[in-house]
Amino acid sequence: MSIRPIPNQSGDEVNLSVDLHSHSDRSDGMLAPAAVVERAVAQQVTLLALTDHDDFSGVSDAACAASATGLRFVPGVEVSALWRGTTLHVLGLGIDTGNVVLKAGLEANRAGRTERARRISEDLARAGIPGALEGALRHVRNPDLVSRTHFARFLVQSGRAASMASVFRHFLVEGRPGYVPHEWAGMADAVRWITGAGGIAVMAHPGRYKLKLRDREALVAEFFDAGGRALEIVAAGHNADDRRYWGSLARRHGMYGSAGSDFHEPREAGRDLGCLPPLPDGIEPVWNVL
Ligand code: AMP
Ligand code: MN
Ligand code: MN
Ligand code: MN
Repeated sequence: MSIRPIPNQSGDEVNLSVDLHSHSDRSDGMLAPAAVVERAVAQQVTLLALTDHDDFSGVSDAACAASATGLRFVPGVEVSALWRGTTLHVLGLGIDTGNVVLKAGLEANRAGRTERARRISEDLARAGIPGALEGALRHVRNPDLVSRTHFARFLVQSGRAASMASVFRHFLVEGRPGYVPHEWAGMADAVRWITGAGGIAVMAHPGRYKLKLRDREALVAEFFDAGGRALEIVAAGHNADDRRYWGSLARRHGMYGSAGSDFHEPREAGRDLGCLPPLPDGIEPVWNVL
């Protein structure tokens, strides 16, 4: 699959026709799976992965919607994982959604979310914000998957915060009301579930984790040892320096590069589907092996 660059208005960036990171309302996105596919087609995306948090129940609808178009669809998931106390996201691309070990692992992560949501709500109530769980659940389409994003939407709509970005500065993060530390799957387990289901494990947006330089390098080495084969070099929150840095780490380990918008919805801050710069030179695209 080759990259088809389309010039865009910002001049320095081109739109890739590939987008391997997106969310639907099966997790914390706002569009139904088929609508994500429809939007990707309108955005001239030709290769799309749906990667909902800890859930792939949208994959069948998305695949069905894609089959009527020229878009090639990749079944995916974004697994929440823990590494040395830091929460990480590992993307699984090209997964077999019938795999029972992966299914059970995702179920465990989702069950943890339900319990966490109750505790987030209790903590917000102690800080003088009652009714947060009910408020968050009004934004949830998949009762199995409650995310901080749903709490954030409630906090914005109820006037407690001015924007989603502001929520994640003043609430739901360490040291702030609504923060609940959480035990996700271990990183190596998340990678094993993905590779065991025939998928390629990709470290999502590595530049977004608050890690020291030495820990970044240790993370990538451990991820590779566990079976991780790609880094999301072109990612939401990565600038040109980040792309060069993570590109150099990928090259060092002979890993593939991935590219994804982390699309959640059309209006909240973030990139639209397919609005991505190219991979750095000399990086083999992971979509060559999907
Ligand atoms: P969770 O997996 O429930 O802990 O929620 C994490 C989600 O919160 C991410 O996938 C993002 O969609 C969202 N999120 C985290 N930080 C921010 C931010 N600064 N602005 C907007 N959304 C954010
Ligand atoms: Mn999200
Ligand atoms: Mn993520
Ligand atoms: Mn994501």
